Amino acid sequence: MVVASLALILVAIVLVVIGLASSSGGVLMSSIAVSLLAAAALFAGVRQTAASRRMARASRPATPVRDRPGGGHDLSPGVKARLAALPDAVAVTDAPLSFHLPNCARLPPGGFRLIPVATAAAAGIRPCHSCDPAAALLASLPRS
Ligand SMILES: [Zn+2]
Repeated sequence: MVVASLALILVAIVLVVIGLASSSGGVLMSSIAVSLLAAAALFAGVRQTAASRRMARASRPATPVRDRPGGGHDLSPGVKARLAALPDAVAVTDAPLSFHLPNCARLPPGGFRLIPVATAAAAGIRPCHSCDPAAALLASLPRS
């Protein structure tokens, strides 16, 4: 579309030159018409390009959960709600900010603090992907 409008602009320029050279009013008028067409085509082309760029952005897959920094994955609202009812404590590390089972092998010695799992989940802290404390704690619940 942009290429077509550029071609129309070229045609308009040629018509202007011919119109001026032959001092023909009809050719000048048609050159104005062609340049208006070119403007419309350019406008449509730019809009189309912007729209397809938007589409490409929308269809691009989101960053895979696994590749995000911070280790674990986000908790779903349902999991957060279930964790909020648990009395268990989890170990929170600052770098990366994540929470673990207190016996997780990835915990740095002394480099964590114990807080209720409900607090960690409500604060949006991600669970460790190694010990997966959210799944482990929820799995330890008696089935109702
Ligand atoms: Zn862990």
